[in-house]
Amino acid sequence: MENNFPLNEEEIDGYVKIDRYNPEKVARIAAHYAEILELLGEDPSRSGLVKTPERVAKALQFLTHGYDLDAATVLRSAMFEEEYSQMVVVKDIEVYSMCEHHMLPFFGKAHVAYIPNGHIVGLSKIPRVVDIFARRLQVQERLTNEIRDCIHKTLQPAGVAVVVECKHLCMCMRGVQKQNSVTTTSAFTGEFVHERTRNEFLRLITASLG
Ligand SMILES: [Zn+2]
Repeated sequence: MENNFPLNEEEIDGYVKIDRYNPEKVARIAAHYAEILELLGEDPSRSGLVKTPERVAKALQFLTHGYDLDAATVLRSAMFEEEYSQMVVVKDIEVYSMCEHHMLPFFGKAHVAYIPNGHIVGLSKIPRVVDIFARRLQVQERLTNEIRDCIHKTLQPAGVAVVVECKHLCMCMRGVQKQNSVTTTSAFTGEFVHERTRNEFLRLITASLG
């Protein structure tokens, strides 16, 4: 199926709202949602709901648009040779994803570090990589590993560290109702396997500038 998302990096850098959708997909997903509304006991023809199936279809396409993007290509588009070999840390990257078990949102922050080994990458590309993997159906554990593995394989640095902290609405809103619990996952390669380097990273992401 042809997808209508802009694959050109410039068009979507800076989180410009994507309002181009695959019309065939929108129509098919919307038809299913009209039926779901009925099954839930709603009247899909009442005024507040008439456009809901189409809105949901578009929202879902946006929330899963990471499937149409290649994170390694985004990284490679801004790789530069550079001798800098100290830790580079990008912290407090916003994460919005959806759990694949309940299709409910989970959201929070990611902190990413790497130690260059001949190449650095444009700093805005790290949040882009996080976003590309987050905009799919996910589990937080896999999201964390995918970010690490993509940076590790593409940039081939001396090490990569990723920490993700998220609240899961499937935990907050259903059954368990532990409303304030935050799930933390982490993944490390190379130098970050050593305790001293890893502790330095953890110190940097918990320190505030103030
Ligand atoms: Zn869930």
